[in-house]
Order: sequence, then structure tokens, then C-alpha cells
Amino acid sequence: MRFAQVIVDVSAYPVDRPFDYLIPEDWEELIDIGCRVKVPFGPRNVLGFVVGIVAESDVPVEKIKPISEILDLESILTEEMLSLAKWLKHQTICYEIDALQVMLPGALRAKYEKYAVLLGEVPQLPQMLQPYFEKAKKVNLVQFEKANLLKPLKRAVKEGLVNIENEVKQKGQVKQVRKVQIYPREQIEEVIEQMGKRAPKQLALMEWMQDHAGAIVLPEQIYEAVQVTSSVLNSVIEKGAAAYIQEEVYRDPFTKEVVKTDFLQLTDEQDKALKKITEAIDEKRQETFLLHGITGSGKTEVYLQAIQRTIADGKEAIVLVPEISLTPQMTERFKSRFGDEVAVMHSGLSVGEKYDEWRKVQQGKVKVVVGARSAVFAPFKNLGLLILDEEHESTYKQEDSPRYHARDVAIWRGNYYNCPVILGSATPALESFARAKKGVYTLLTLSQRAKNQALPTVQIIDMREQLQAGNRSMFSEPLMEALRDRLDKKEQTVLFLNRRGYSSFVLCRDCGTTVQCPNCDISLTYHRYQEKLKCHYCGHDEYIPETCPECLSENIRYFGTGTQKVEEEIHKLFPEARVMRMDVDTTKQKGAHEKMLDAFGRGEADILLGTQMIAKGLDFPNITLVGVLSADTSLHLPDYRAAEKTFQLMTQVSGRAGRHNKLGEVYIQTYTPEHYAIQLSKDQHYTPFYEREMHARHIAGYPPYYYIALIQVSHEDVMFAAEYAGRVAEYLRSNLSFNVSVIGPTTASIARLQNRYRYQCLIKYKVEPNLIPVLLQLIKLYRSEWIKKGIVLTVDLDPTMI
Ligand code: ADP
Ligand code: ZN
Ligand code: ZN
Repeated sequence: MRFAQVIVDVSAYPVDRPFDYLIPEDWEELIDIGCRVKVPFGPRNVLGFVVGIVAESDVPVEKIKPISEILDLESILTEEMLSLAKWLKHQTICYEIDALQVMLPGALRAKYEKYAVLLGEVPQLPQMLQPYFEKAKKVNLVQFEKANLLKPLKRAVKEGLVNIENEVKQKGQVKQVRKVQIYPREQIEEVIEQMGKRAPKQLALMEWMQDHAGAIVLPEQIYEAVQVTSSVLNSVIEKGAAAYIQEEVYRDPFTKEVVKTDFLQLTDEQDKALKKITEAIDEKRQETFLLHGITGSGKTEVYLQAIQRTIADGKEAIVLVPEISLTPQMTERFKSRFGDEVAVMHSGLSVGEKYDEWRKVQQGKVKVVVGARSAVFAPFKNLGLLILDEEHESTYKQEDSPRYHARDVAIWRGNYYNCPVILGSATPALESFARAKKGVYTLLTLSQRAKNQALPTVQIIDMREQLQAGNRSMFSEPLMEALRDRLDKKEQTVLFLNRRGYSSFVLCRDCGTTVQCPNCDISLTYHRYQEKLKCHYCGHDEYIPETCPECLSENIRYFGTGTQKVEEEIHKLFPEARVMRMDVDTTKQKGAHEKMLDAFGRGEADILLGTQMIAKGLDFPNITLVGVLSADTSLHLPDYRAAEKTFQLMTQVSGRAGRHNKLGEVYIQTYTPEHYAIQLSKDQHYTPFYEREMHARHIAGYPPYYYIALIQVSHEDVMFAAEYAGRVAEYLRSNLSFNVSVIGPTTASIARLQNRYRYQCLIKYKVEPNLIPVLLQLIKLYRSEWIKKGIVLTVDLDPTMI
């Protein structure tokens, strides 16, 4: 008799351990570790993952129920994934089932049909299977189940004759595109004759069509080749020179044609960095590299060549980017170097498309994965390299359970496979740089731009002076002049509106003062409804002052503006300018972001105006001016990382200008020009910033000197939320050591979300061996008692947002 140890899909405290189930004798060959099964659990049948198979159970046999259904004939989770899940569970304090689920594509949680697909020839199959494949290559698994033929089928799978495919049931699964069928030459000739000499654009189009008679092309290809609009194409089609047709497409997330690119001759610095990395690859050793390179220094080329080495060794590589939909240019570079060997795990893909990409990885059909955070779980079995580009980005931390950081998971997998991990950034996270300085990571530095271009010159503009001089516009004089100059020269400008998070604050427009918490060195957050300023680290609150506490000016008020307002202002100032606005509103549609960027690259707009989403990865030769409308917004975030984030953002945005031959210029507008995060971003010198910021963190007792853990409590009833947050604080204070500070309870930065009131407690500690046991004890209390009262409690060790 054999038993399967199963983690069931029930997120509840007493269930967070494997349960034993009997494997029916018939199925002994069928069930492997890492398969999903259905098992009876209480009155229901639930999904479960087989994490172990044993010959004996501690539970009396008569009490053990049998597995009721097999969902996978092949393991979908490797041994590696199962141990990674165990680690995640301890590392982030989550349910093991959550850790298992996060590694799988959504499709495996959705409804789907299973099919057996014939790979070999029918006669190679065992006799009893043959009839099923005689008519079709693809047979629904239900048929084998009914005929009790799963066992021979599984053997056929092991021999590589049959493949099991899951097909997600989705509406509109078959994708269609509209294409243009160009008619034969003579037909076009006829249309031209009937037209005479009118409509030169239509004529030009038809001449082009004559050269491409009979072809089927995308409308976009026509627009680009002949430089006509869709209305011209429509007229030509109406006249009978071509027709629209619908064509089915295979789900390929990367539809653009890519041009194969070659390796670049590395600069000395790049070469030195690559050598260190390849040493680790050759010696099969885990080593974490922090590749610190200024913007445009050619970090990506180092990644590409390191990957090349990895593939040449027969191994696989994972490349993580912060938000893949925002970095199409980056993705393209990997695609164009490695072609079909790359799978793209894109958050914009449908569930089915994501599953397709995941499957390619699992079956070893690709060697490289480029994707956002969750791609760190790409199911490769022979990993040779993991890369996190822009490693400082907060998107690498998952905000829901399991609250993992992709950096930690990458290093864990690097240790599992004895392979290097590269963390790349122009502005590394403070803790990463600190680790590199201590020798935990190996620091690699690129201090020059790859093509030796000069860094853009950065001007910091004091908006207080502008106001004093009578300029009430959101554009300073110097920035307006620079803009006018680019419009004349037909060069492009990127205007960056710094808006982040939900917070807002109050700022004195005369002296740049924002009101700070007297206890925490953090900006107070403006709460519109109560007309109050609050600190959500410690709970301090006060009324909005009528005059500035520093300079007594009355120009102190709520600060913030939207992209739409900026756009209107540009239209007033420069009616002739073509503006492209990129924000959450204009990029809602799938692919909109990429389309806009392409259009901007083709010079279809003079000014690209946008929020954070334009800060990353833009690389266009004609951008010679970057304007930051207000650096202050991120500086006054109620977050101890505000200065770091501002420095990172300013450096990143500035890096968009002058990346090619033309020299770039950057204007940063601010009400606090003297702040070190702004001053030091001027020359993009990371190290002085690092030292200054470390000093500030040391004094205020924040990471990386101290660790932080965040406990949040929420409830629909504000009294309940407050009461239980109070209990949390009390519990922590009485159980943790004296040298640990427990701060709170306070309202969370988003005090109410989806009708739930949110409170929090913050734990600051240096060493506290008791922390995890105490937290587990707290969670036990919560899961066994508080949860019934509608409380939701979350624990985040090392939170990125507080
Ligand atoms: P980063 O990722 O550090 O911002 P990129 O990799 O985007 O920098 O490189 C900036 C530019 O320099 C790109 O246009 C890239 O093609 C080019 N480049 C990188 N390495 C080299 C090299 N060794 N020789 C010539 N050009 C290079
Ligand atoms: Zn003031
Ligand atoms: Zn405070």
C-alpha cells in the first residue's frame, strides 16, 4: 500500500500541512510527486498537490481516504519547486498552498480540458491505444479515463510518443487579425484607369500595391510603407483594389518582426564584468553580482553575452524586468538576439497565452525567459543564470501572500543550481549596495556610457524663485525656453510628471517646506475629509497650518496635479506642439503602451508626457530634452525610502535624454532644490548619495541598519480594526525583547480600502531570534479565533510599502 502526502487547496490554519491519502492500487504507477489530484476533504472534493509518496502512514489505515481523481499524468511541479515552496512558507510566513499556487500559471487554476496528443506514429503505440489515434492526433483524456487506459497512456507519455496538453476553456480563444488581401495587378490597373489623376495618395498606394499584387499584409505595414492613413486605404479598398480579410493567428505574444542582432564588441569595463560572471558560470558556483552601471553604460549587453555563455553550456536563463509591459524595447533586444529561444511572460497576456509560454519553458522548447516578477518561478530544470534588471524596483516585491521578493527567490534558485545571479541597476537599492560593500555580493561597475556619450547636463530649477518672479505656471522659464528650442529644431522632449502612490501632501510654495512628523522624519499625509495631516508611522496628527511654519507665507496648500491638466497647459503655451499623453487612462487597452512608444519613436509627436511609466527603458535617438515637472512629489512620500526613490527616479528619467549622438539636457523643477537627493542626482553620482542616505537611515533607525516588519489589521468596522490592532501591539510588546521597538497601532497609509478600515503596527529590530516564533504564535491566534470575527491580519517581513 502506498500513500500520497497531499497539500490541499484550503487556506486555513489547521490545514497548513500535508495530509495522507491512499493511492488506489490501479493508480500507483500514475501518481508522481508534483502532480495535482482531487481528494475528499470534509464534505467536499478539493484540489491538492502531491508533495510526497510513502509506504507507511502515521494515521490508522482505516481512516485514510483514497485519492478521488488524478489531474496530471506528468508532474507539474519539480522537486526543486516543492522545496522552494517550503522555503517560501518559512521565509514569508505564508500557507504552503499559496506558495505552490504562485509558481503555476493561472491557467492551471482555471477550467481546462486535457488532451492526449500523438507525437510518434500510431503503430508505435501499444495496441489498445491505437484505435483512439487512428482518426485524430488529439484525443480528449476523458476517453482513456472511461476505458481505464490511463496507465498505458502514461507509459506512452514517458516514452515520448504522446504528450498531454491542457487547453484552457476560454471564449474567443482563437485570435483573429484583420489583414489586407491585395488583388492581382490587372485588377488594380483597372481601378487606376477609372480614377483618372485625382487623389494622388490613393494613386501612390495603388502603385505600391501593384508591386505587391496578391500579397496579404497587415494594414500597419501599408501605413508604414506608403505613409498613408487608414482612410486612404479604405477608399482604395472600396474602389476594388484590395479587400479586408480575417486571418487566424497563433497566439504569439510577440508579433513584431525582429531583426537579428549581433554581439557588440565589449568596452573594457563591460569585458571585465563579463569575465567575472563567466568565471562563476564556468566554475558552477553561486555568486551574486551587483552590476552597478550608469544609464546607457551597456548593462544589457553584458546580460546578453552572459546568457549566450549560459545557453552554449546547454543551460537556461531567466531575465526579470520590473514591468514588462512598460519595457517593450528591452524585450525586443532579447528577442532579437536569441530569436525563438526566448519566451516572454507578459502581464498583458491572456490566461491562455501565459500558459502557452509557461508550457514552452516546461517542455524545454525555449532557453530564455524574459518576464516580470513571477517569471522567477519559470519551470526550467537546468538553470544557469538569473538576472534582475533594475533590481531596486519595488515591483519585485509581491504585496499579497506569499509576500516574496524576486531577488531572494532568484538567489535561492541560484544556490539550488549552483549558478550566478546578476542584479543590475544604475541606482541599486541601498541594501543591495550595502551588501556589495560588505562582500556578500560581488560589485561590478560600469562607470562610462557604452558609446562614450556624455551624460546629459542637468539643471535644477528653483520653483520658489519662479513664483517670486511672478510665474504661476507649472513650467519654469528655462524649461519653456528649452521646449521652444526643441520644437524649432524638431527634436523630441519627454516631460515627466512625478506622481506616485495614493499620498498627497501639503507644501509651501514660497519656501518648499512640507510639514514633517515631529517623531518620525517623514512627511505628514494630507487627509482631505478630516482636513488633517497625519503620520501613519506613529499616528501623530495635526490640523493643516494656515501659514507656513517656516516662513509664515500663506501659500501653503495641497500639492498635486494630473497629466490632463499639464496637457492643457502645453496646448496653451505651445499650440503647435504635438503632444502624446501616456498615463493609466490612455494606456488601458492591451498593447496601447507599446503602440504609443513606437509612434513616438517614429517621430509622430514632439512631446511625450507621462507618469512613472515613461521613466523606464525608453531609448530613442531624437530625445534631447527631459523635463521633470516636480521632483517633490516622490520626495515627500510618507515613506522612509522617499529620498532613495526620488534619486532613483531622477537618475532614471534623466537617462532618457541624449542616449545616442545628440547631447541631452535635463531640467528638474523643484521647491526643494537644496535636498541632497535632488542635488546629487544632478551628476548621477551614486556613491555620495549612498553615503548620505545611509547616514540618514542610521540616525533614524531604518533599514538597512534595522529590519522592519509590518503587521496590518483590517475590518469593515473601524472600532474592530482599531481594537485588534491594539491587541497586536500589546501582544508584540509583551512577547518581544526590550530592544525591539513596536510602533503603533496607527492607521495605514491607505486608511480605508475596499470598505475595510486598515490599521498597522511596525516592528523595528536588529537581532530578534524570537521574532518568527512570536509572529507564528500571533498568526495562530488570528487564524484560530480572530478570523471568525472578520479580521484580516497580514504579516510582511521587509515591506516595500509602509
Ligand atoms: P543600460 O542597460 O546600461 O542602460 P544599454 O545596454 O541600453 O545600457 O546600452 C546603451 C546603448 O549603448 C545601447 O544603444 C547599446 O546598444 C549600446 N551599447 C552597449 N554596449 C555597447 C558596446 N560594447 N559597443 C557599442 N555600443 C554599445
Ligand atoms: Zn514657507
Ligand atoms: Zn510619526
